[in-house]
Amino acid sequence: MNLPIDLRNGRPDSAETHALTNLSCEMQDYNLYTQDVALVEAVHREGGAAAAAGMDAFGQMCGTADYLELGRLANRVRPEFDSHDRFGRRVDLVRFHPAYHQLMKTSIEHGLHSSPWTAPGVGAHVARAAHSYVHTQVEAGHGCPITMTFAAVPALKLQHDLAAVWIPKICSLVYDPRNVPVDHKQGVTVGMAMTEKQGGSDVRANSTIAVPVGAGGPGMPYELTGHKYFVSAPMCDAFLVLAQAPGGLSCFLLPRWRPDGSKNAIQVLRLKDKMGNTSNASGETELRGALAWMVGEEGRGVRNIIEMVSMTRFDCMIGSSAGMRMATSQALHHCAHRAAFGRVLNQHPLMQNVLADLALESEAAMTLTMRMARAMDNRAVETEDLLVRLVTALGKYWICKRTPDHAYEAMECIGGSGVMEDSMMPRLFRESPVNSIWEGSGNVQCLDVLRAMQKTPAVMDAFFLEVDKARGGNALLKHYVEALQNDLKDLREMEFRARDLADRMALALQAALLVQHAPSSIGDTFCQSRLAQQGMHNYGCLPRGADACAIITRAAPYGHGGSCA
Ligand SMILES: Cc1cc2nc3c(=O)[nH]c(=O)nc-3n(C[C@H](O)[C@H](O)[C@H](O)COP(=O)(O)OP(=O)(O)OC[C@H]3O[C@@H](n4cnc5c(N)ncnc54)[C@H](O)[C@@H]3O)c2cc1C
Repeated sequence: MNLPIDLRNGRPDSAETHALTNLSCEMQDYNLYTQDVALVEAVHREGGAAAAAGMDAFGQMCGTADYLELGRLANRVRPEFDSHDRFGRRVDLVRFHPAYHQLMKTSIEHGLHSSPWTAPGVGAHVARAAHSYVHTQVEAGHGCPITMTFAAVPALKLQHDLAAVWIPKICSLVYDPRNVPVDHKQGVTVGMAMTEKQGGSDVRANSTIAVPVGAGGPGMPYELTGHKYFVSAPMCDAFLVLAQAPGGLSCFLLPRWRPDGSKNAIQVLRLKDKMGNTSNASGETELRGALAWMVGEEGRGVRNIIEMVSMTRFDCMIGSSAGMRMATSQALHHCAHRAAFGRVLNQHPLMQNVLADLALESEAAMTLTMRMARAMDNRAVETEDLLVRLVTALGKYWICKRTPDHAYEAMECIGGSGVMEDSMMPRLFRESPVNSIWEGSGNVQCLDVLRAMQKTPAVMDAFFLEVDKARGGNALLKHYVEALQNDLKDLREMEFRARDLADRMALALQAALLVQHAPSSIGDTFCQSRLAQQGMHNYGCLPRGADACAIITRAAPYGHGGSCA
């Protein structure tokens, strides 16, 4: 009942219990590219300058409130699976929220699934990595089919007849999500099915059987029977699959549709109920005599599909670096808009230490990722090719492993509202472990680093050549690298020590890159905090003398992070 004001004895409306003060605001309507000083520098430094103008427009679009909302919607409304249509026909159909389709469309129209293959050369991988880094900050899950489609190309090139049919459709800039055979489509996406119930890391344990339909051999059709326990993006138009052929584990291309227009016998049993990565559907499937064509030589399946896997590992580096950048931005933004105990949060010395440390980690991850993008653009140079061999495993292990802690710490900077589902932080946090687990989990990457060192010792020459470029620039780095070199000479119990060695190699490489390319407040503080300190540390333990304010100011999204000075 609305009482007249005089009957309330002049008291204010009781619905207004409090005044709104000290509230932060959404970080939106900002340019995700130009506000990122370190990224802009990296794009130019690593050969991607030609892409800068396009990146500016892309960053502007990605940072609008409406576009950022797509990321929320695509995860809030989970994909739904229909095994059959309402009449009873088997359809294996996954339905996504329109926001997911919009994100896919943007990625494909900007060539995030193909540009280094269609326009290779100086800066091609760098430009793609930078676009992907920006777009992943809006939404990470849809990046899974984009990455797999991108990564399928080097593997498919091993089989020219299949490549001739599929690669032009893969490289098309048209997003065509229709569930129809490849010859009716303007553009296609490709997934990957290796993992089975009995083993994901050890794919040699795959039990799916491939029986030749005719003579068999490379490019020939086979029928595959078995299961694949994780098949992400099951609406892809085809999958690269491992199966046991008479001559051993081999790689196959398995399309959704048979050439006669009937549905292929790959059946999705159910979608995984994942803790994160929810916009991306991941299915458990069975192959019931599914028709597939052999890619490359029989018995060389792992060797052939590894062409794909090394690309997806690189994309894990991009994805986790992007997650760290968005988490850092969210923390910096919030702490510039919220006060406690009489001061804006980013003016408290201890909070400055935490924020600067988060920013350091984020810049180190991005810097290493973009350096590797340049190496991928220059594989004709032997040392660059060797770096790709070693550092896709090393960087994937290290950057992805650093991300969950980082996400959690950034969440804590925001306080209680950072835990709430209407903040972006829970999504970043739940997404954060995935990159480390798929495409070869942490231990598997470390063992791969050892394998590269043992099989191709020249990778270590390329590694130290890169690190040496910065050695004169910081005394701590010089001593750190000497100790690392000594420990690498000791070949005892290498497997047991693999994580320790990989951690130190990754830190040395990140430090070397930052010492060379970042302001001294960044490079020197990274060395002091990561190379000199002994024992375990949480974020926020930068040593005295670190110029936290300079680090924060460099990382702060313009107009949103403010200055902490
Ligand atoms: C969201 C999501 C989506 C996925 N999508 C796909 C997909 O589309 N296609 C696909 O093929 N797979 C997919 N996977 C599966 C993923 O690649 C596997 O989960 C991963 O390879 C690990 O395999 P696993 O789960 O069988 O674990 P396991 O192989 O059993 O490994 C368990 C642990 O043991 C460790 N380990 C293994 N070997 C060694 C060793 N020699 N020494 C020390 N430690 C070791 C691993 O590092 C890991 O930590 C997906 C997974 C997830 C989470």
